[in-house]
Amino acid sequence: MASYKQVLEKGKKLTRKHNKETSATELLLLHFSKLEPTDLYLKFDDKMPETEANAFYEGLNLYLDKNIPVQQIIGSVYFYGHKFKVSNQALIPRFETEELVANVLILYDEYFEKQKVSLVDVGTGSGCLAIALAKEEPNFNVTATDISNEALDLAKENAELLGVDIDFYQGDMIQPILGQKFDILVSNPPYIPTNEEVDTLILDNEPHIALFGGVDGLFFYRQIIKDSKKILKDKAIIAFEHAYDKLDELQAIARETYPNAKISTVKDMQNLDRMTFIIIGF
Ligand code: GLN
Repeated sequence: MASYKQVLEKGKKLTRKHNKETSATELLLLHFSKLEPTDLYLKFDDKMPETEANAFYEGLNLYLDKNIPVQQIIGSVYFYGHKFKVSNQALIPRFETEELVANVLILYDEYFEKQKVSLVDVGTGSGCLAIALAKEEPNFNVTATDISNEALDLAKENAELLGVDIDFYQGDMIQPILGQKFDILVSNPPYIPTNEEVDTLILDNEPHIALFGGVDGLFFYRQIIKDSKKILKDKAIIAFEHAYDKLDELQAIARETYPNAKISTVKDMQNLDRMTFIIIGF
């Protein structure tokens, strides 16, 4: 039997041979050892049980040879401190999107000052935005939509696992919630331009319906902004994640529909223009 350390080193060596990320190898070892990070390092020189080591190598093989994302092999990912179930039916929650959660919370404090508000997440996918926001702020009454029934099933499961109550609707963007009114609209719509080259790890494993946003990647922003007038209150906030190189075009689209709004863009931790906020009626 090999030690945890030896198994990890062997896994990393294989991973490097495939020119892939050794951080994924570490995550897989943690998962298949069923140990907390601190315990794993305390037990580093202990023998790793054979069945667990075999499961680790099988998992690693899925990543290295079948090009499956580590989050899908493990079946979960941490997002805003909560463990979300992951499948190939919705986008895997990304780090950038955690920053959208943080910024929405800041804007809520600034503009709504602890009032109860209704918030909708348009195109919720795994549910990560809607659920993290509901967990963080009890004053949010949260609704979420998605066109994909499979994604909605995953989002509902995540809401249940994390113990939050969200109204889910199936349908295209805001279509299923016409007739309702909201204070905050958040969305991380599909935004990759149709002809952009995408890493095969993403392209082969995540639903294209959740990735591609028309020739210029802005199709869904146009649609959401135009239709948002029908579902937003007079004072409202729209919060978008977007491609880092679409800031000017997106602001111009927002300006057409909301000429008097305060529009601001915030950079993500990689210093890329990643989130835009449209603050209406304040
Ligand atoms: N940020 C994602 C990626 O580049 C795309 C997310 C999206 O289209 N909303 O893989």
